[in-house]
Amino acid sequence: MTATAHALVAGAIAAKFPDPVTAAAISFSSHFIMDSIPHWDVGTNWRMRPKTITGIFAIAETIGGMCLSFFLFGGHAPTLTLIVAIVASILPDWLETPWYVLFAHQKKHEPAPRAGIWERFCYHIYKLENTFHTKAQLPLGLATQVVTVAFFLVVLSS
Ligand SMILES: [Zn+2]
Repeated sequence: MTATAHALVAGAIAAKFPDPVTAAAISFSSHFIMDSIPHWDVGTNWRMRPKTITGIFAIAETIGGMCLSFFLFGGHAPTLTLIVAIVASILPDWLETPWYVLFAHQKKHEPAPRAGIWERFCYHIYKLENTFHTKAQLPLGLATQVVTVAFFLVVLSS
């Protein structure tokens, strides 16, 4: 899902579980649960546009989402807990970034036959993350996300 969706749920987790280790563990797990729901995000359709554009969108969206979560949950959770929860909730996506940035391109879907160990390693992390990842196009892919985030916010605030 978008970094914004992950960061918002992480904010609610931090507000509910003040202990940073607990909040980080739950936030990290929440990433995979949320990604298993069909959704759209900045990475969807990346092959249809230049990689730099996707990169700029992704960075801007991540910073915006983190700021929004800070703004909404800043007064409701310890600052350290909030920071580690947000980072943990987005971390799985950052771990797959090296594959996209360094190796993948529009016509390349997997490592070349003679790829080096680092390329294979990045690809495996990317694959692992995407075991859970289900995509949906706009506007449905955004609607599922809004519903998912709303659901988690309600459950966590009760
Ligand atoms: Zn993800």
